[in-house]
Amino acid sequence: FSGAELARLRNDFPILTVPGRSGEPIAYFDAAATSQKPQCVIDSLVQFYGGQNAAVNRGTHLLGDLATTEFENAREAVAHYLGAQPEGLIWTKNATEALNLLAYSLSAPQSTARTAGFKPLGPGDEICITRLEHHANLVPWQEACKRTGAKLTWLEATEDGRLDPQNFERINERTRILAFTHVSNVTGALSPVADLVARAKAVGAVTVLDSCQSTAHGPFNFRELDVDFAVASSHKMLGPTGIGALIARPELVDQLPPFLTGGAMVTWVEMDSATFHEGPAGFEAGSQPVAQAVGWARACEYLQLVGPERIAAHEHALGEELLAGLLEIPGLRLLGPTTMEQRAAVFAFALPGIHPHDVGQLLDSKDVAVRVGHHCAIPLHQHFGVRSSARASVSLTNTSAEVDRLLAAIVETQRFFGGTNV
Ligand code: PMP
Repeated sequence: FSGAELARLRNDFPILTVPGRSGEPIAYFDAAATSQKPQCVIDSLVQFYGGQNAAVNRGTHLLGDLATTEFENAREAVAHYLGAQPEGLIWTKNATEALNLLAYSLSAPQSTARTAGFKPLGPGDEICITRLEHHANLVPWQEACKRTGAKLTWLEATEDGRLDPQNFERINERTRILAFTHVSNVTGALSPVADLVARAKAVGAVTVLDSCQSTAHGPFNFRELDVDFAVASSHKMLGPTGIGALIARPELVDQLPPFLTGGAMVTWVEMDSATFHEGPAGFEAGSQPVAQAVGWARACEYLQLVGPERIAAHEHALGEELLAGLLEIPGLRLLGPTTMEQRAAVFAFALPGIHPHDVGQLLDSKDVAVRVGHHCAIPLHQHFGVRSSARASVSLTNTSAEVDRLLAAIVETQRFFGGTNV
């Protein structure tokens, strides 16, 4: 973006003017945890609640019709942005729920009301994940293994926290499901999706992509990625909290048994049995997150308007600056690849002798917001031999000046705690 373009873009985000503790605007480097929202997304919630709110799919009054139309238009808009089909997009409350839905449905016994096109998992089968996974794409598969007797296997990470195609022989004829992240929320490492999909296809495994850290940072096309399932999260994509999605090849939707059951997902109910909707509705039990869907759709339109390629270029350029600066700080340990070709602009780091919590607090006192902790990826931190880290993540609204502030604040943190040899 040119300086003027970036200034205009930043104007769309009211939160960027909120003063921090020292009175300066906050340099927000925590978009990997949750993104900030442009005014149009905030407005879309107000407009929906002020002009269209009603329960959906109960079309006997005008507001019900309006809300239903908005809800289904939103499904179309979000699916379109992600290169998917609305018939394959199931709303969930977040990406974690989408992964639970999938892990539960794929590990259900065959005795369901639906055609089970997926042979039940059992002893001898394997579910393969990776060392890089967020707990959301790890624990649900552990539970699926417990339920079925299948074995959990994983692809190890390289020393710098990447997946290496040399290690893909772990994916073998016993592998029934391969679930992996698109971009690590810790190391920023980009997964070799095409290699993984090719390997999974060669052994007939179902592929599941966790795209929480990729969809807001550049072009994303579910169809081109050629996976069977993906999950996405609105709140990481400038949209509201409280909504995520499971994206599926549409023909797979009706092969999955339902996860949550109750109202709205049934076509008929007797005292001792029920039949379920086909398509996404069969998974959307209870009252739907309508305003959230509307807000997410607005966020997708906004991202499209700004331009995914331009967002990627901007974040890549800032990533280069930040990476170069981090690598120059004596003693700083970067947890992840050291070239931008192998990573997104998500940087977890450790300062030896200084607890990440103290790093976060010192940066906060300088109005620089980063995340500290294990970032819901304890096994990956174990791989690096640390309990936790600080993480700075770049988004479309960050500036070079903010990168300088971040780097200066890290150096100042080291100085405050007595240099690098504490
Ligand atoms: N996977 C990854 C890689 C993530 O970064 C996150 C969010 N931290 C999740 C899954 C979970 O997403 P949600 O908050 O929508 O449940």
